[in-house]
Amino acid sequence: MSQNQTLFERAQRVIPGGVNSPVRAFRAVGGTPRFITRGSGAYIFDADAKRYIDYIGSWGPMILGHGHPGVLEAVQKAALEGFSFGAPTEREIELAEEILKLVPSMEQVRLVSSGTEATMSAIRLARGATGRSKFIKFEGCYHGHTDSLLVKAGSGLATFGNPTSAGVPAEVAQHTVVLEYNNVAQLEEAFSLYGHELACVIIEPIAGNMNFVRAALPFVKRLRELCTQYGALLVFDEVMTGFRVGLHSAQGHYAQLLPGFKPDISTFGKVIGGGMPLAAFGASREIMKHLAPLGGVYQAGTLSGNPVATACGLATLREIQKPGFFDSLGAKTRQLVEGLKTVAAENGVPFSADCQGGMFGFFLLPELPQNYKTVMTTDCTRFNAFFHGMLDRGVYLAPALYEAGFVSAAHTDDDIAATLDAARRALR
Ligand SMILES: *Cc1c(COP(=O)(O)O)cnc(C)c1O
Repeated sequence: MSQNQTLFERAQRVIPGGVNSPVRAFRAVGGTPRFITRGSGAYIFDADAKRYIDYIGSWGPMILGHGHPGVLEAVQKAALEGFSFGAPTEREIELAEEILKLVPSMEQVRLVSSGTEATMSAIRLARGATGRSKFIKFEGCYHGHTDSLLVKAGSGLATFGNPTSAGVPAEVAQHTVVLEYNNVAQLEEAFSLYGHELACVIIEPIAGNMNFVRAALPFVKRLRELCTQYGALLVFDEVMTGFRVGLHSAQGHYAQLLPGFKPDISTFGKVIGGGMPLAAFGASREIMKHLAPLGGVYQAGTLSGNPVATACGLATLREIQKPGFFDSLGAKTRQLVEGLKTVAAENGVPFSADCQGGMFGFFLLPELPQNYKTVMTTDCTRFNAFFHGMLDRGVYLAPALYEAGFVSAAHTDDDIAATLDAARRALR
């Protein structure tokens, strides 16, 4: 029997479903999850010592690949100096300075340990700063597992959201309005109904939790106008896109297309920790002054700004600022995406794909979808067959059709070529 199977059975005895985060269980695609023993550059190895080209990268953080020497050295040095003090350290200032330098929409930042904490705190901050309770989120966007964010659309605009998870009381979901992504008319209608009661709108600017769907430019533009007009704060959840789609994140990309554009609050995670538990949220000084100990919005964390995690994050952020880093990463990712399109066309498979920086998505659909509903029209039997076809051939893609993919700086042209070759055979 495969070691993966043995470990999975053992894991299921002591951990619910055998995993510590549901998507790892392969429920969407079937089969046995691979237990990973180590990673090196663009590769991960499972318990049967099988090698995979890794296109998950821990769901985004491993932008440099696994075991980058500079990052390893920084982490080892920090670990020798102490794991955690529960008191401030200079490295927290350095990391905050580094993030703020690259994200001009923020003047201050607070470090936390997970993306969930960052978005939860951002919503609390928006509510505290505006004195309002309601907020808008979009169907298909994931913002971590905070109660008020585990909500799907109600039966109509006049009704509020329904919990998507057991254990979330309807009362907690009642302030969450859930709208369709990229639907300007619905957004305008919601603002005309509740605009003055909205604390904020939270959005993944390039949604990576319904595969890869960009917020259309006119949609972002109108969203910004409406938030400003009604005094609601615009929260960009860049936990996935931050320092992943470009050095200035998704907001930098939108600011290029819409001069002067900026969100009010931003959240980060994944890449800023380089694979360690670290995340952040930030805004203008005017907004951040509401946060404890300056203001009345409480927020805290025993391991926040952890010295080993900040060392890992800082070393990672310094690497991605080296000249040409994103040009090269973006070119490699485009090479993969264009190659996949060609391979699909050769085999007559309906296919569309998109990418930005080191993040990509592909669909077994003839055109790029604009919202969650369309993403979910994908033929999942076909997707699952493709996923397993690739996995068998040593290519580790996300084990669900609604997840994005990630390329790292460690991926070589040969890795991309090997991936396309695997795809050619898997699609045949
Ligand atoms: C991953 C993710 C989160 C949650 O971050 P965790 O560190 O898993 O808690 C929140 N928002 C977005 C957009 C994410 O991709």
